[in-house]
Amino acid sequence: MKFMEYTTELVDAVNEWDGKVEGPSEKNRKVNRLRVYKNSFVENFLATSHVLTPGLVFGPFILYGLYESFHGTSAQIMTKLAIFALGIFGFTIIEYVIHRWGFHYKPGKEFNSKVILFLLHGYHHQFPNDKTRLVAPPLMAWPIAFAIGLGYWAMSGPEYFWTLFGGTLAGYLFYDWSHYYTHHARNPKFFYGKMIRKAHMIHHYKLYHLNMGICTPLWDHVLGTSAWTDDLVKEAMEMALELEKVPE
Ligand SMILES: [Zn+2]
Ligand SMILES: [Zn+2]
Repeated sequence: MKFMEYTTELVDAVNEWDGKVEGPSEKNRKVNRLRVYKNSFVENFLATSHVLTPGLVFGPFILYGLYESFHGTSAQIMTKLAIFALGIFGFTIIEYVIHRWGFHYKPGKEFNSKVILFLLHGYHHQFPNDKTRLVAPPLMAWPIAFAIGLGYWAMSGPEYFWTLFGGTLAGYLFYDWSHYYTHHARNPKFFYGKMIRKAHMIHHYKLYHLNMGICTPLWDHVLGTSAWTDDLVKEAMEMALELEKVPE
């Protein structure tokens, strides 16, 4: 499809990629980003995203979910607020599962298999400081949100759907902005910020199949994929700071 045609630099990067969602290659360490699509509309509006875009797109659904929560008897309101909070908490599991078993899935050798994984997550590991593809762009976020919404509709039915979905989107936003923070708040001042940045840099530069949770280490501890030693932190942060010097 002409509309979705890849640039030569993307095709070359996928062909050169070994299919491992690990640290950036020597060549890719020297640049901050690639252009993926030839068509400017697709590249600028569907395949990349400003950090605030997910808030503008999903914010109204979150507010509507909260608004819906305040309808009914006081018992129903308490139930709905608990469901909203459950939606936020539930997303911490979703982000862990998608990242561990989806984004780090090893693709086949053929281009069409590799390019899907590359665009889903391989790209982020090869160009971790590309600001424009850090929060999920519409091409990725909307289909995932739609699929999760359909599943929740089937589970919760119309009465609790907007509350659950709104809470889930709030969890998603928290995850996406936490992820952006780990890469771009380069000198966090508070404990939580320091912790998630260091843990995520270990994931990017030292142990690619560990520290799969971004906004909380909870599921890594529960499922045995947590990694944290002083040496790991030191080496990962050195590498992160080195790559962050590459001009944007
Ligand atoms: Zn990853
Ligand atoms: Zn990252």
